[in-house]
Amino acid sequence: MHELSVCQALIAQVEQIAAQHAAQGVKSVHLRLGPLSGVEPQLLQDAYPMACAGSVAAGSVLLIDLAPLKVKCQTCGAETQASPNRLLCGQCGDYHTQVVSGDEMLLMSVELIQGAA
Ligand SMILES: [Zn+2]
Repeated sequence: MHELSVCQALIAQVEQIAAQHAAQGVKSVHLRLGPLSGVEPQLLQDAYPMACAGSVAAGSVLLIDLAPLKVKCQTCGAETQASPNRLLCGQCGDYHTQVVSGDEMLLMSVELIQGAA
């Protein structure tokens, strides 16, 4: 299952951040996901509890922010929003477009639980 390995990679990143801050746990993980990232948000949500079981992120909440898909037109230069299966310029309808954003999977923030030291 693809989403589980994506989740595990994400948790590894979160664990590193938690270790850097000597955190006792993780409250939430905020992720930004583009429609072309190849990751299904719902499947990621489903895989998340499994992936973080036994890690410092166990019991945390995964928040997914869906990034818009944007293309830049090579004919008229406009930057417009497009749909994943139709990468056309919203301005002139040309298909000579370049994806500007929408294929990203970014870890935006991690809310850590700090011990009362
Ligand atoms: Zn155009």
